[in-house]
Amino acid sequence: MLSLGNGVSYSDNGNRVLFDPHRKVHGGLVCISHGHSDHARKHDATMLMTPETKKIVGFDGEAVTYGKSSHGITFYNAGHVLGSAQCEINGVAYTGDFLMDSPLLGGAEPIDCDTLVMETTFGLPEFAFPKRQDVIGSISKWVKANYNAGRTVILGGYSLGKAQELTKIVTDMGIPVLAHPKIARINQIYENAGIRLGGWLPTNTDEAREIAKSAFVAVMPFHQVKPKLLEALSQQNGTKAVAALATGWALRGRLGFKAFPLSDHADFPSLLSYVEQASPRKIYTIHGFANEFARQLRRRGWKAEALKPGQKKLTQWDA
Ligand SMILES: [Zn+2]
Repeated sequence: MLSLGNGVSYSDNGNRVLFDPHRKVHGGLVCISHGHSDHARKHDATMLMTPETKKIVGFDGEAVTYGKSSHGITFYNAGHVLGSAQCEINGVAYTGDFLMDSPLLGGAEPIDCDTLVMETTFGLPEFAFPKRQDVIGSISKWVKANYNAGRTVILGGYSLGKAQELTKIVTDMGIPVLAHPKIARINQIYENAGIRLGGWLPTNTDEAREIAKSAFVAVMPFHQVKPKLLEALSQQNGTKAVAALATGWALRGRLGFKAFPLSDHADFPSLLSYVEQASPRKIYTIHGFANEFARQLRRRGWKAEALKPGQKKLTQWDA
């Protein structure tokens, strides 16, 4: 049985596992797919997650590496953020958030499965992102032009995942990056996992304060990039400060700042490609445009529907 409620619940012959429950769970088995706060919280239960996710969230739990299984659940790379996992149990795959072309993490490999529960954050045809290398090229060009013109450049992205990619894009040009302490902590975890991010340093160090006396480039948490911050920075070192955000929602515009469509989620063509490669008998969609994407799949001949709260579905639906 599958159901959506407190996360996604799978049960079979008395075994039950919850994927990414958002309310605290007491007892039983829980899989935490990755470290973003809408997926990871601490439970009073047996928690399975990758060793990298454990470091990011700081919870006790059982570490499961990619390609390995525990309690009958196999973990696979999801390509979304460091440590992000897809999970599979008895032919039922749960993607969690995923990305198929991550330059730092490698892409999510579609899981050959019978039933697929997939995230559909960008499940509308309008969300077809430009090639990642092209977006990275545009960001590099924009940062370099502003930095060379003596402006302070602030890049905003989620602290886990996007911020590390932004850091690497800038340091690859030989420009040092000042990282907000929240981001610096995650950067260090990436580097400890063998993913080199180049010449970055936390904003709360003497060296960073020295660099910030003239124009500099900093990576900040998405929600802290505000006009007031730019004003304060301009006054602080006498440079003009500019900002840009990196998010898939850039395609919809109206973010208040320049925005680049660099996303850690699969876009519409990638979601379709995932389904074609996994070739499941039944697909349940969750998150974002779940109804719309399920409709798009049905039009293409797939058996698909949005998983609704409280509904219980037989995984062997046509048996
Ligand atoms: Zn996420």
